[in-house]
Amino acid sequence: MIKTRFTEMFGIKHPIVQGGMQWVGRAELASAVSNAGGLGILTGLTQPTPEALTAEIARCRTMTSQPFGVNLTILPTLKPVPYMEYIDAIIASGVKIVETAGNNPKPFLPKLKEAGVKVIHKCTSVRHGVRAEKEGVDAISMDGFECAGHPGEDDVPNLVLLPAAADVIKIPMLASGGFADARGLVAALALGCDGINMGTRFMATKEAPIHQNVKDKIVDSDERSTALIFRTLRNTSRVYGNSIARKAIEMEHEGKGIAEIGPIVSGQKGKVVYETGDLEHGVWSAGTCMGLINDVPTCKELIERIVSEAEQMINARLARMVA
Ligand code: NAD
Repeated sequence: MIKTRFTEMFGIKHPIVQGGMQWVGRAELASAVSNAGGLGILTGLTQPTPEALTAEIARCRTMTSQPFGVNLTILPTLKPVPYMEYIDAIIASGVKIVETAGNNPKPFLPKLKEAGVKVIHKCTSVRHGVRAEKEGVDAISMDGFECAGHPGEDDVPNLVLLPAAADVIKIPMLASGGFADARGLVAALALGCDGINMGTRFMATKEAPIHQNVKDKIVDSDERSTALIFRTLRNTSRVYGNSIARKAIEMEHEGKGIAEIGPIVSGQKGKVVYETGDLEHGVWSAGTCMGLINDVPTCKELIERIVSEAEQMINARLARMVA
């Protein structure tokens, strides 16, 4: 067992959290991660309405009795999102863990705190982590440049970002971006964190509710297989480097904006990739840690493997190096 401030605060067995991935963070995956002793996360905006999120939370409850959380990402979207109504649905459903991401969580904190909800804020820079801590979140998930999805615009990888953050952030902190195995967990603990957040690694599990082609592609790909789209829009997103991502980058270089690029990169098209396995239908998020993923285990096998190998690494390998 690896006990940390994060496992203690959130009442979970292992310091491993599943990232709130759009279209992937559904009850099948969140419950499997929580049942395996990690912290599963439902992705709020994967559900088209707050009412649908309420139903998904209820469905997840039928699949696990362990704690799970809900991610709410606040970033530019093609259609407006009623964020506060999603927050109300989460609170009314009795979920006690929320992961906010993408923007300052301040507007949501009074309601969440009043309802006794613990908030993990995911951010991509030290300054945003410090600000969220001051505003009263309970934990930080620090997301380095390696990550899938939105890494921010500073491009600082985790070898520097995490210890720089750990120097100034006092509340428990997760390491996010690039984590896929026991070496990553041990490194995260050494860099000053209290656990890891994994997204892409959990996509390549038996329970992830996505097409087998996506899982196989993650296994077959390496650390160079991603692309960064939306750099010119200052809303950078790391996605799988397919023909649609290359087309979007080409359009950006031609000076085109979201009105022209939006139709090919929309989340609705990405959803079809996960449903049908047509990997070129749209853009889909994937991180550089694809270079570390070589199999499709169950969540239980994956989490137990990471924790037992990490314990072995700490006890047998690292401890023996101390003369
Ligand atoms: P969407 O279909 O609304 O938009 C597709 C992409 O275009 C997203 O990356 C979005 O940020 C970007 N975009 C939209 N309008 C933009 C604008 N005006 N300027 C710059 N970029 C713009 O998004 P979706 O796939 O339905 O996802 C819904 C939300 O969830 C988005 O904010 C998205 O970024 C976010 N997201 C979250 C995760 C996660 O892990 N939580 C993963 C992927 C996407």
